[in-house]
Amino acid sequence: MELSDYHIHSICSEDGHYTMSEIALASYAQGVRRLCFTDHCDLDDYMTGYPKQNSYAHREKTIEMFKQALADKPADMRLFLGMELGEGNHDPARAAEIAASPELDFVLGSLHNLEKKTDFYEIHYESYEQCAQLMDEYADELVALSKLDFYDAMAHIGYTIRYMRRDGFDVSFDLEHFGDKVEATLKNLIAGGRGIEINCSGYRTKRILSPVPGVDILRLYKQLGGEIITVGSDAHRTNQAGKGLAEGLDTLRELGYKYYTVFEKRKPEFIKL
Ligand SMILES: [Zn+2]
Ligand SMILES: [Zn+2]
Repeated sequence: MELSDYHIHSICSEDGHYTMSEIALASYAQGVRRLCFTDHCDLDDYMTGYPKQNSYAHREKTIEMFKQALADKPADMRLFLGMELGEGNHDPARAAEIAASPELDFVLGSLHNLEKKTDFYEIHYESYEQCAQLMDEYADELVALSKLDFYDAMAHIGYTIRYMRRDGFDVSFDLEHFGDKVEATLKNLIAGGRGIEINCSGYRTKRILSPVPGVDILRLYKQLGGEIITVGSDAHRTNQAGKGLAEGLDTLRELGYKYYTVFEKRKPEFIKL
């Protein structure tokens, strides 16, 4: 089956390592025929959590590199240009301005740090109480982000667990603990015509081995009438390209989803599973 990847990073992201052409060819080798680059555009500095100047300073570089990737790609591969726009709820006006950039086919709305706090990646976790408190604040911010309309799909709901588990805390961002806030988030997204993603990076991570968000949240989204769901590897390296996508599609099928979603010029299209 042909794969689509709507969450992937090149060297246009601070934590990326490969050109778009390299990423595209590595993805193609794994069966990806439709790929949307979603390099980071974070409104906050990841170390401080305070607003960053020139968040989209890499715009020209991104557009140039995308042109090169279009020239280098195999004929039967389709490439799109998207963005992972981080922390839009901390400055909705700025986020809306960036997301309106005409070159974009797709915008992921994501959250990597709480307001005025460092990225969850950078935090050193020391207790279950600390994890629970931070995840509760994270859930509050997701609700705030879910009310904003500048993006197409909310990225990796439950991002926090990647790093809490890295530090040895077996926590879950699930309905049992955060059900009310997650349900409010999903309902806001659905009412606004926005979607979520199934982030497949978790299938590649030893301490997770499941999608982000987890299956319970993916099931609830469908029960609530959610239809827009994109699929992304969140790969940052060529050896991660395409990895986890097939598992993501299997999970969606098992949950009874009939379609997943891709975007072109910010318009959703539904692909049969
Ligand atoms: Zn992210
Ligand atoms: Zn990402």
